[in-house]
Parts: sequence; C-alpha cells; structure tokens
Amino acid sequence: MIDIKNPEDCCGCYSCVQRCPKNCINMIEDLEGFDYPKVNTSSCVNCGICESVCPNSIIYLLKYHYHVMLLNIVQNKFN
Ligand code: SF4
Ligand code: SF4
Repeated sequence: MIDIKNPEDCCGCYSCVQRCPKNCINMIEDLEGFDYPKVNTSSCVNCGICESVCPNSIIYLLKYHYHVMLLNIVQNKFN
C-alpha cells in the first residue's frame, strides 16, 4: 500500500503522476491552491515507481507490502 508522509513537502513536480504505470495518482488542489498527490489504492499495483521517482521522498510503500513490489518486479522481468 502506498502512503504519503509530510504532504506539505510535495513540490508539485508531477513525477509520480507521470511515471505511474496505472495512472492511479491524481494531484488534488487544497484550499490554499497547492497540489498534493492522492493515490487510488484500488488501481495501485504496488510497483514502487512513484516512491523511487519522488525527489522529496514523501510517497512510499508501506513496508509490509514490499513483498508485493518484489513479486511485481520479478514477474515483469520474466514476462
Ligand atoms: S506504486 Fe506504482 S501503481 Fe501504485 S501509485 Fe505508485 S507508481 Fe502507481
Ligand atoms: S513525485 Fe513527490 S514531490 Fe513530485 S508531485 Fe509526486 S509526491 Fe509530490
């Protein structure tokens, strides 16, 4: 599962949005006009790409789902 920590540190670069293979990250504008990422967890496949491209390290996979990410990497490599 993807989680967001310290969303106020998001610089709005859209890297996570652009790289998500499932298009399940949307930027939502808050009341002050700042954009923050929101993940549609029902579409997320826990690939970890968003975590790896975030320059501010605020979007990350919860540790107990790392096995799913590793399984996805192995499956993508051999398919
Ligand atoms: S883990 Fe993968 S599928 Fe899920 S939000 Fe991040 S990039 Fe998208
Ligand atoms: S990659 Fe990180 S800093 Fe850039 S928009 Fe996504 S969460 Fe924000």
